[in-house]
Order: sequence, then structure tokens, then C-alpha cells
Amino acid sequence: MIYNKYSKFLKDEFGEKVYKLPIKLNLTCPNRDGTCGLGGCIFCGEEGGSFENKEGSIKEQLIKNKELISKKYKAKKFIAYFQNFTNTYLSFENFKKNIEDCLIDDIVGISISTRPDCLPDKYLDYLEEINKKVMVTLELGLQTVNYHTLKKINRGHGLAEFIDAVIRSHKRNLRICAHVILNLPWDNLDDNIETARILNALEVEEVKIHALYVLKNTRLGRMYNAKEFDIISLEEYKQRVIIFLQNLNDDIVIQRLISRAPEEDSLFCNWDRSWWKIRDDIEAIMEKNKLYQGEKVKGFDLL
Ligand code: SF4
Repeated sequence: MIYNKYSKFLKDEFGEKVYKLPIKLNLTCPNRDGTCGLGGCIFCGEEGGSFENKEGSIKEQLIKNKELISKKYKAKKFIAYFQNFTNTYLSFENFKKNIEDCLIDDIVGISISTRPDCLPDKYLDYLEEINKKVMVTLELGLQTVNYHTLKKINRGHGLAEFIDAVIRSHKRNLRICAHVILNLPWDNLDDNIETARILNALEVEEVKIHALYVLKNTRLGRMYNAKEFDIISLEEYKQRVIIFLQNLNDDIVIQRLISRAPEEDSLFCNWDRSWWKIRDDIEAIMEKNKLYQGEKVKGFDLL
């Protein structure tokens, strides 16, 4: 296998195909409301990282999605995915209720998107117990290990907070999926490689790779319209993804190689190509040239 695909990991883990069911809640983020920053990350849109149109309670959203996906793919096992905004930025009681509400039939895992600086020990202790019943994964936005770029994109946290969150989560056996963007205009290939190496050193379990998209009505959108930065070409993006994978340990599971945003909300997204075509191209280049995840991970044996 050229890289360690999430679909295969789930099939090996649960004995059959498993599908994620996105849940959208009416939340916010400490990087938007002034607690640790104002205005949010410069690329973050009004929906806080989710474009699904979801209404209703957690159970209603899960049941509705489950029905759709079961019918389409004959799926029987699912992961409840708290997708938008910061899903640990709410009172402990409300957080617990949200988690308990999604422990319904056929849910074998819970994925929780959040920020690395928003994971109090109390919440992690609780998730440690839930993890004994269903697989718990924390999806942490890192984007890059370049501290200067993190400042530029107004993340409101640095690399230290990410390292701290991973260490404290791992002490409780929780899985970590790191989100990274490989074409941030202020990063170069060396930053991508260093990001891979730090994720190796931290032994994160999963990575989700994104290509930067530019949404309307965002700070990034205004900078884009004012031509304040350039975005690398699609060919360079493909190369960066491949080199990132070559430098990433081969036991780290890859959730995806590229992200997507609705055309009507975007000023720039995926070089106007469909995401799956770009993914297929990257896989084809790797297969043709016999390039593999982890092949450039350095190490040597002492004699
Ligand atoms: S941390 Fe997430 S929700 Fe918060 S501003 Fe950044 S992208 Fe948006």
C-alpha cells in the first residue's frame, strides 16, 4: 500500500466498512470570541469548518444521516463526528451530555474536532472512560509547526500547546488526528517536512491533510483579493503531499489528502479541480514512481 488509508484502518479495526456521521452544533471558538483571540483563524468561515446543512438534536442528526448512508452503502457501523467549531469549548455538563447523546446503536467511535489549547484534564479524564466503550479520536487543528506562520494565520496558539495536548491525551490512550495544511503561503517544503517529523516524534495516530481554500468574507479572502500572497501551483501541492507522506511514519493513518469547500462560498478552492481527481492523481504518481509513505523517515542503527 502506498500510504496508510483511513478506510483500511477502519475495516481492519472493526471488521467492516465504517462511515463518519457529521454532527453540526451551534457552538463558537475561543479564538473568535476574544477568550484567546478575536476574529478566528484568518481562513475560518462563519460555519467554523463545516459546510453541511444540519439541523436538529444530536440524535436526530445521527439517525437521519445513518439512514441515508445505510441505504446508500449498506453501512452498519458508524463514527459520530463533532465537526464544526471547538467542540470542547462548552461547559463540562453540556460536553458530557453531547457525548452521551451520541452513544446510540451502531456508533463504534466518536471523533471530536477541537483546538489543542482547549482540552482541560477533566474533559480528557471523562473521554478516557468513554474510550473504554467506543474508540475516541481527538481531531486537533495544528496546520503547521512553523510558529511564525501560526501567528500569521492568527491561530491563537503555538506548537507548544499542540505538543502538550498530544502528551496529555496519549496518557489517557486517546487517539489523535492532526489536521495540517500543506500549502500555507508562508510555509515552504521544509516546514511541511518538519511538520511530518514532529508528528512522528509525537506518535500521533492519524493525519488529515488539507489544501488551503479561500472563503468569501474572511480575512484571508480580503488578503487574497488584495493580492497579498500567492498560492503554490497544483503540481507543487501534489509534490508537497507526496514528500510529506514520504517523511511521515508509515503507521500513521491518513484520513484524507485534500479538503474541499463549496464553490459558492469560495474565492479559491483546489485550483478549480475536483478533490477526488487531485487525490487520484497523487495516488497515481506515487504508484507509478513507487513512492511510499515513510520511506524518507530517517534513522540508523548503532553497530
Ligand atoms: S480554531 Fe477552528 S473554529 Fe476556531 S477560528 Fe480557527 S478554524 Fe475557526
